[in-house]
Formats: sequence, structure tokens, C-alpha cells
Amino acid sequence: MVGTATISIELELGWGLVRFDKMDKLSDDRTAETRYLSRLLDRCDEYDVPITFDVVGHLFHQDCDGEHGGPHDDDWWDADPGTSVSADPEFYAPDLIDDIRSRDVDHEICTHTYSHVECNRVEPRTVRWELDRAQRVHDAHGLPESTSIVPPRHSTPPTDALTDAGIRVKRVPHYDAEGQHRPSTRVQKLHEILLESYPAIEPERNDGVLETYSPEYTTLAVPFLQTGTYSPHPVYRSLPVRVRRRLHERKLRRGLAAAADDDSFVHYWCHLYDFANEQQWPQIESFVRHLAERRDAGAIRTLTMRELHEDAMSRRRSASGRGDWTDEHSRPTPHAEQPRQPDPATLSDPIESGR
Ligand SMILES: [Zn+2]
Ligand SMILES: [Zn+2]
Repeated sequence: MVGTATISIELELGWGLVRFDKMDKLSDDRTAETRYLSRLLDRCDEYDVPITFDVVGHLFHQDCDGEHGGPHDDDWWDADPGTSVSADPEFYAPDLIDDIRSRDVDHEICTHTYSHVECNRVEPRTVRWELDRAQRVHDAHGLPESTSIVPPRHSTPPTDALTDAGIRVKRVPHYDAEGQHRPSTRVQKLHEILLESYPAIEPERNDGVLETYSPEYTTLAVPFLQTGTYSPHPVYRSLPVRVRRRLHERKLRRGLAAAADDDSFVHYWCHLYDFANEQQWPQIESFVRHLAERRDAGAIRTLTMRELHEDAMSRRRSASGRGDWTDEHSRPTPHAEQPRQPDPATLSDPIESGR
């Protein structure tokens, strides 16, 4: 049996926080985020582990004047400082992207939209503008276009906007996978977050886009330890930190075991800022080593999101016995699915930290 593990990390910095008045979740001048990214990339080089970084397109810029046009609401760009990386490193991060690209391991850089729009709270034409602008930024920086997306805050972009932009795989909350359901009480949810193994679920193709499944709450870093500079919800703080760290380590490893045992797929994710502290980092560092050991023992493959798509294509080709199978066979119908609305209960849940 061989399981498959994917890690995706959201690089959004201030773009994911400024509209929620949570900029203080970042360290001053995001110095901790810069440092811990470098540490993670060091470990990835040491153990040859690739990661998918889903990056807000604006972070590629060295500077800007705060005017980007587009069909957004009039006040959308008020959040943009219109300065430079030296003045506001929370909104510009070419140095972080350079660090990722300079490494020996071929990490994937894909999109998290251009300015962190929630794709089902804006018009489809705004989503199209965001994807187009993000692809153009990749092009301008000599990167291939994104074939993967992580939609901000688990939103659901119109599928035809994705396929038209060349997107072939997206990360989706695991509750949306067939046979999965949300816990019905807060206690069950706490139990799931603290104690249950991460779900191992095979990606599914839906209207021409492969869906890879991961919980809504963060799983590489965990919501029950410090995230960024923030303490976790008081309900978690009733457990000693050392116990929570052991639970973190156990969850990371059991996810791999579940994928390996079932010949299935596990997907870990968090934001960069989530693990930029000493409560989360030691478990993640040891997990990268453990992941490499399991891979070297033949129990696990490590695939980026782009590689998940390629893997699904080749498995499908061999299943059909045809060598000429291409993406075009599953282009979406003109009546692509409508965006799903987020569950309001999860948006206001204090024990839900993953966005
Ligand atoms: Zn700007
Ligand atoms: Zn985000």
C-alpha cells in the first residue's frame, strides 16, 4: 500500500487579515514569517520534500501605487497601502517568493487569487479578473501559469472561470467530499480537531477540476496551539501546551498512516503565519523528517497539487486503456455548478480558526 501526502501553505500575509482587523496576528514587519519560511525551506531541501505554496498575486510586487482597477467594489483597494516592500512588507513579499524559487526542491507556486477575494462573495467577472491578473503576474515573473488554486476562505469559484483560466485542481474542504459530513455539535467538532486522524480521501474530478480534500481548520499547524501571534481559543488552553504539542505530532503522523493503510490521499495545510512560532514549529520540523522517512520506506508519495492532477490524469489514462486521453474530455458543461455558499455556522465559530 502506498499513500499520498500533499502539503499546501497559504502565502497571503496581510491580504488575508486586513479586512478582519487581524493584522496583529503577524509579527512586526513579518520578520518571524520570513524566518520560519526559510527554516521550512531548509528542511525541505534536506529531506527533498516539495510543497505547494498558494500565493496571493499582489505579494509578487516590489511596490505599487495602490491602483489596480478591476470590477471590485469601489473601496476594495482601500486596503492596499500603495507603498513598497520596505514600507509595508505585509502586502509585498517578492523576497519570500525568491526564497522559495531559489531552493533545490521544485516547490509549486500556484494561486490564492490576486488580492484574496472570497470567490462566492463577488461577481463571477471579478473572479475572472483576479485569476487573469494572477496569471499575468506569474507570467511577468517567469513562472508557469497556475494549474492549481486554493480559493480564499474556502470559497467556491465558478467552475467555468477556473477552467477558462487554466486551473485544473483546487483544494476543497473535506466535508464536501462524498460520504463526509460536518460534526453536528461543538463537542464532536472539538473531538475531531483534537483527537481524530486527518481524513484520507482520494481526489475527485468535478466538472473538469480535480478536488483535493483537506479540513477547513488548519492541519499542518493546528488551531489548538498558538497561531501567528494569537493564543488559541480558551477551550484549548485548558490543556497543557505539552499535551497539545503531543496531540499535534500524533495527528500529523496518523494522517500519513491513514493514507498509507488505505492507499489513499492526505492533504495538510496552513498559512505561513500559523507556524511562525515555537509552539507549532518543532512538530512541523519533525514531521517533515518523518514524512521523508515514510516516503523512503516506500509507504508514502509526496505530491504537489499540480502533481496530483498529473497523477490523476495518468491513472485515468491507464484505466481507460487509452494513451490519448486529455483534459478536453472533461471540459465543463455550459451549465457549470453554481457557487456554494459557505456555512454561516462555521464562519462565526470561535473554535474554527482555519481560513
Ligand atoms: Zn497594490
Ligand atoms: Zn487565504
